[in-house]
Amino acid sequence: MVAQPEAGGGLANLGNTCFMNSVLQCLVHTQLLHRYLEKRQHSAKCRRRQGEFCLFCALEDLVQRTFAQGPRSPAFAPRAIANALPAIAKGFRLGRQEDAHEFLRYVLEKLTKEGSAVVEAARPPGVTGKYTALQSWFSGALRSQIQCCHCGHESNTQDPFLDLSLELRAVGGRVAPDLDGAMTQFCQEEFLDGANKYKCEACGKLRRARKQFLVERPPRHLSVHLKRFSFGEAGGGSGKISAHVAFPATWQLARYSAARTRLGVEQTPPLPYQLYAVVCHDGGSTHSGHYYCYVKLVREADVLRAPAYLLFYLLPQQHHEAAIAHWRDPRPAAASSARTYRARPRLPSAPRRPWAVR
Ligand SMILES: [Zn+2]
Ligand SMILES: [Zn+2]
Repeated sequence: MVAQPEAGGGLANLGNTCFMNSVLQCLVHTQLLHRYLEKRQHSAKCRRRQGEFCLFCALEDLVQRTFAQGPRSPAFAPRAIANALPAIAKGFRLGRQEDAHEFLRYVLEKLTKEGSAVVEAARPPGVTGKYTALQSWFSGALRSQIQCCHCGHESNTQDPFLDLSLELRAVGGRVAPDLDGAMTQFCQEEFLDGANKYKCEACGKLRRARKQFLVERPPRHLSVHLKRFSFGEAGGGSGKISAHVAFPATWQLARYSAARTRLGVEQTPPLPYQLYAVVCHDGGSTHSGHYYCYVKLVREADVLRAPAYLLFYLLPQQHHEAAIAHWRDPRPAAASSARTYRARPRLPSAPRRPWAVR
């Protein structure tokens, strides 16, 4: 069991870099990543040339600088990362207010794609190709299930995700009061009907069908994006959902798990995710505002009142191991000739730029 790192020092703002600083703070306080960076597991084998930017090396440096003297470490200016911003996140420009979620997504994609392979990482069923320790920490998968309402035929696919991006506003316009409200909405059954009917591979006809997303493969580190920004019609106004959205210090994800539909409530392993960092946003519009973050040190009651934008949870190792036993191979059984319907993946969605000053 790896202990949560003690909080390190702060980061100096380099001009509108609060979106970047707050995400970097949360990442260097992300247990498994912190340990990996602290031990310099990457740079020992890094093949970057003189003067070339390497995100892993830069993050190692960040951990060394900000944790040197614990919380009393002097504020560090992450200049190397700031200067390399356009190389990390396509279209980002130093000095411009950008979206913290989009930045996080770019960094996680880079970390999971370019991280070096580690042998002991448990490879989930159905995942082929290079599989790295960083993938095993950050990547999860949703089960997208479509069931024909006529014959009951089911088709399941897995959609990998690096974070859960949750709508806060329901169809009726009501804002979800809490994280569970938003997640329930995300996992709600929807019906494909009318012009949207589903071509059932068992009946061979267009049928009304039930569609649902559930969590098939829960990751160790789970980040949740609360979609606080709404967008008007082409070029029109955009707004922020400023309402408080409650979130728990321990979030029980088992009720959204695909394993529960197979094993039942009693037999489904619990998934008690522990909150360890939060990115918040202050300000009323998409063009202005300030990001800041909480990492595990401050009083919990203060954190739970915060206007959260990104939430970072960790699933303790023993619970993760129990869940792994129930991961299901997404490939259809050999006996079945049914082709798996490929749902349009809902995650990861195309990055949006709600913070860009135009
Ligand atoms: Zn490197
Ligand atoms: Zn059918």
